[in-house]
Formats: sequence, C-alpha cells, structure tokens
Amino acid sequence: MTVELNMPKSWRQETKPHKFCPGCGHGLVLKGLGQAIDELGIQDKVVFGCDIGCSLLTWDFFNCDTVQTHHGRTGPVITGIKRARPDRIGIAYMGDGGGYAIGSQHLVNAAMRNERITVIVVNNANYGMTGGQMAPTTLPGMKTETSPYGRDIDKTGYPMQGPEMVAAIVREGAYVARGTMANVRQLKTFIKRALENQIAGNGFSFVEILSSCPTNWSTNAKDTWNFVEQEMPKFFKVGELKVPTKKEE
Ligand code: SF4
Repeated sequence: MTVELNMPKSWRQETKPHKFCPGCGHGLVLKGLGQAIDELGIQDKVVFGCDIGCSLLTWDFFNCDTVQTHHGRTGPVITGIKRARPDRIGIAYMGDGGGYAIGSQHLVNAAMRNERITVIVVNNANYGMTGGQMAPTTLPGMKTETSPYGRDIDKTGYPMQGPEMVAAIVREGAYVARGTMANVRQLKTFIKRALENQIAGNGFSFVEILSSCPTNWSTNAKDTWNFVEQEMPKFFKVGELKVPTKKEE
C-alpha cells in the first residue's frame, strides 16, 4: 500500500520523517507554513531562520535558504538579511521561550521598528527541549518541572499575551494574529496573510500558534488535544488582532 503523505513541496523531502516527539504540534505548524509558501510560490525567495529549543529541529526542514540562531536572536538576524536583501522573504521561527523570554527585547524592537519580516512564535506553554520548565506562557495552575504545584500567578504573573503586546506597539501596515494547531486550515491562512503582508511591503507581521508538547505535559493523545483546543484558548484568544490604522497613529 502506498501512503500519500501530501508533504508541502517547500519541505526537504529526504529528511522526513521529522525529529519531533510523537504528538508535537511543530509538525502541523510547519505543514501550514509549507503550504503557505507553496501557494504563494515564494520558495526560492524565502530565508528561513530558526531559533534554539525545539524550533532548532527545523534547521533542515525546508528546501529554502536557512539560518539557525540562538535565544530569540532569529529576529535580528532575519532583519539584517531582509535589510540587505529586501527582495527576499524573511521568516523568523521560534518558540515562546525565544520569543517572549530571553529574546523578548528583539521581538519588541522589531515590532516597534515595523521591520518587514514575518515572525512565527510556537506557544506550547513550557520550555520543551530543556525538560518542561515554566515559561512566560505557562497557564495559571499548570504544573511544570519548575512549578510542581502549579503556576502561582500571585508570584509569577499572568501568562504572556504575545500577539496582544505586539498589536499594541506596531504601526500602520502590520499584521498580527494568533492561530492554533487545532485548526490547521486557519493557521495556514494566518501565516499566508502574514507573508502576503511582507511581500506587499506593508510592515511587520507576527503569528503566534498554540501548540502541543505532550512529552513535557505528560498527556496522552486525547488530553493533549483537549488542552490545546479547550484550555489554552481560555487565556489565549485565537484570531486576527486589530492594528493601528493611519488615522489612529
Ligand atoms: Fe515537541 Fe515538546 Fe517534544 Fe519539543 S519536547 S519536540 S516541543 S513534544
């Protein structure tokens, strides 16, 4: 029997299957990104930047020019490439640790400067590769390696609202959205609109994707899916966000 994997053409076919844990959401996010690249016909123009943590495992994922950096520095590296080669499509791919913790200053400044790049942050509510420690996005009461009794918001604050923060500081022409692996068609649409925004030269584009980490959540398939589909949206609202128009600036 032949199994049709229906892989995006922009993926490197020879390096599959991928290296993520079974049930990890990165695969679905990357499928949506690959399909968006295919549909836009931009494979030869893309410069894909991946960060550290589990997003590092994408370093050989796309059949596109690729650069790997560390600790949220993917944004500045892709910014530099984009400024030198404005004809290229710069994509910075990272996790919530790289985007919202150790690299948060880079995200803030790229958004404020309205850099013509696309940033994709995969939010799985923990530091995946290093063993499941509490992250800025860990939900209230959620147990992690470093919050074994559940995240105490009185001591650690509320989960980071990345897209809301970005939408509050970007300028006219930006695109900001939050998708979820529970709706792959929608997440692909959001990523495609972000890339179209960059192609049009409008401004900064940013998409956060709610994703799973069953290995560190210690969940089975059903509980993993329920957590992404039902629990995460209680704190992270899925959809496109309003950004400033010319009048409001
Ligand atoms: Fe995915 Fe979590 Fe495994 Fe990393 S540790 S590959 S985020 S399931």
